[in-house]
Amino acid sequence: VIFKGYIERTPAETDMEIKVCKIKLEAPKGSGAFLVKNLYLSCDPYMRGRMRDVHDSYIPPFVPGQPFEGFGVSKVIDSDNPNFKPGELVSGITGWEEYSLIHRTEQLRKIQPDDDIPLSYHVGLLGMPGFTSYAGFFEVCTPKKGEYVFVSAASGAVGQLVGQLAKLHGCYVVGSAGSSQKIDLLKNKLGFDEAFNYKEEKDLDAALKRYFPQGIDIYFDNVGGEMLDAALLNMRIHGRVAVCGVVSQQDFSKPRGIYNWFTLITKRIRMQGFLQHDYLHLYPSFLEHVIGHYKQGKIVFIEDMNEGLESAPAAFVGLFYGKNVGKQVIRVAHE
Ligand code: NDP
Repeated sequence: VIFKGYIERTPAETDMEIKVCKIKLEAPKGSGAFLVKNLYLSCDPYMRGRMRDVHDSYIPPFVPGQPFEGFGVSKVIDSDNPNFKPGELVSGITGWEEYSLIHRTEQLRKIQPDDDIPLSYHVGLLGMPGFTSYAGFFEVCTPKKGEYVFVSAASGAVGQLVGQLAKLHGCYVVGSAGSSQKIDLLKNKLGFDEAFNYKEEKDLDAALKRYFPQGIDIYFDNVGGEMLDAALLNMRIHGRVAVCGVVSQQDFSKPRGIYNWFTLITKRIRMQGFLQHDYLHLYPSFLEHVIGHYKQGKIVFIEDMNEGLESAPAAFVGLFYGKNVGKQVIRVAHE
């Protein structure tokens, strides 16, 4: 899946093209690289940021004419690196292609197969999005038992785990999402106390007042824009806003301002942006916490699995229109 060129507007399928070429299935001798067969690829909203010609961000832009890159689960096929052997499974950044030659290994994790955990969860529940939920909720939101928590894009990869972690922590949790199917999942499968479809609300401030008559202690913000503005009006004194993402603001040619800043002062709110990769030292405790709860049946995880690399452009673009129900993953090849 080749990246065609930089954009400021919301991504479209035409920003990518599928190219077919023949490669030798081997890692060149002396390269120190290894060849992987990609099994699962992750569609993540942050990848949209790499489609801008902006070089002062925390991650470099994609290179026009080169494949998309993202998190994946892959199997080593051939190796010129003594630390990675054929047959081993790895999770980390790979190309949006059937086979990739991996040179950089700093952020790769080896995966030990576990019959109780689907391999694809290593780009979801146990991968970057799951870790974002854990670091964002526990480190940035500093939650206390009994607090009132609001999560936007709540049925997505990050949101669904934030809500479940908050429930396990003894909080009252309300989520917002964009369809009745997602609301049903939030209330009946993911254990949220309440959920509402923001697309059906004419007045988001009024909706939040309805669900939080006593106010919000913690807002885990995945969307920015209008919802953030409405949440600011409903925060309690000493509330915390974790600014995780701005998925509603993907058209950089039409930025929307935030107006209700004054509540940061009147309510003494702490609003903090964060990047999961600043907390990577917590990864082992995250895995222990989440795997433990998952194996006890206290955490569930919803995936939206598309089949085949050809389906990747539409699945990625679908993130910005709410088409994914749960974590969006592409199965490139069967295990
Ligand atoms: P999701 O699985 O939640 O998919 C994106 C969802 O965003 C869509 O399904 C849609 O759900 C919602 N959405 C799309 N457009 C809008 C809109 N205009 N207004 C409101 N909601 C919209 O994605 P992730 O869970 O992977 O990511 C969630 C957020 O977390 C993103 O903003 C992402 O950038 C951020 N993130 C931040 C990280 C960090 O380190 N800070 C790391 C990882 C992710 P719906 O139907 O509900 O509208």
